[in-house]
Amino acid sequence: MTDSCVWLASVCDSDLESPNSQPQQTPAETHRHCLLEQQFEGARITAGETVSCRDCGDHLHEGRPISVRACRYSDEPAYTIAAIYCAGCAPTDLTETAHGRDDGLLEGDLGLAMAGQTHWTILVEPTIVATS
Ligand SMILES: [Zn+2]
Repeated sequence: MTDSCVWLASVCDSDLESPNSQPQQTPAETHRHCLLEQQFEGARITAGETVSCRDCGDHLHEGRPISVRACRYSDEPAYTIAAIYCAGCAPTDLTETAHGRDDGLLEGDLGLAMAGQTHWTILVEPTIVATS
């Protein structure tokens, strides 16, 4: 079984060095982006079936594209969702950054989760747009 472990490790190594990886990102940055996207896959946004755009107040339903601004203060273990925007209001870059705080901008789709009679909105298939 040791042989197959070595083989798997070598496959992973060659993946990291493949020409398809984005040259402007270091492996550490790519890893951080993957972790962020994993953290927000299926993340709960608000209770209820809709969420309001922070800028225009439009009610967004399941299946709508949304942008999410997330932040994490240096003493916090995980990012929290700070604001939701509709596709029309979505910022293209982080403008409200602050010292001692990591900001992230993600876009994805609005999903709906339910348990019994309770609904809540979730983030589906998030991708990183920008990080501070
Ligand atoms: Zn809007």
